[in-house]
Amino acid sequence: MEGKGFERHSRFQRSLERAVRLGLLSAGIALILQPGPWSAGARPAGAPVQVELEDDPPLVALTFDDGPRLRTTGRLLDGLEQREVCATFFLVGSCVEGCEDLVRRMDAAGHQIGVHTYDHIAVSGLSRQDFDLQVGRTRSRLADVLNSGETFWLRPPYGQFDAAAEQWADSPLVLWSVDPEDWKDQNVDRIVSAVVEHVGDGDIILLHDIYESSVEAALRCVDILLERGYCFVTVEQLMQLRDVPAECGAVYRACPPDPEKQRGEFEP
Ligand SMILES: [Zn+2]
Repeated sequence: MEGKGFERHSRFQRSLERAVRLGLLSAGIALILQPGPWSAGARPAGAPVQVELEDDPPLVALTFDDGPRLRTTGRLLDGLEQREVCATFFLVGSCVEGCEDLVRRMDAAGHQIGVHTYDHIAVSGLSRQDFDLQVGRTRSRLADVLNSGETFWLRPPYGQFDAAAEQWADSPLVLWSVDPEDWKDQNVDRIVSAVVEHVGDGDIILLHDIYESSVEAALRCVDILLERGYCFVTVEQLMQLRDVPAECGAVYRACPPDPEKQRGEFEP
């Protein structure tokens, strides 16, 4: 829906402005908006958003799977809000009940929301009916909660998908390029090291907001990477800033600055 898109892009612009104001982006960055100013409501609904960041700060997208979960996700949202940082949440449909306010809070804070199936199952090998029960039903649930008609992008559980899933996805398929395997030992120090020692410009980091350890590790990673001059963006914003078109059924793992590696499928 155009209205929703406008609202979301406005939040994007505000989050970038906030980042500039707070000095979170490296010095000398200017935000050039066309047409402007959005805050005055001058941009027609549905008009393309043009954002340029001078000096090209390194960009990174934090993504969280398997939530929402009341305690851990709530604490994560608190920490991200304190740091004025945006992330992307791929939600499990069956976990949404009882967490509706959290989902609305995510959306209001400018985080991107996507789907991670209804029951957290692999989408490869599913019939069309079962695929729709997993992906379509979760989207409907989120649309009800958020009163939104937007398409929630898909992250297939376990990173598994097949040609049919690509065909039926009706959105980009978002994978990742940095995986600290935070579920394995839930060791905060190890998770932080695995992220900050491997992350680069344009990476998509995979974490799970259902563990206290992952929440703590994520916030520590944010603090370290902000110090290094990184700008945190949602996956959609990352692609937009790197001029990577979001194509239905295409698989995205990262958006590095090298244009040769930005499009289509590539290994991290
Ligand atoms: Zn998962």
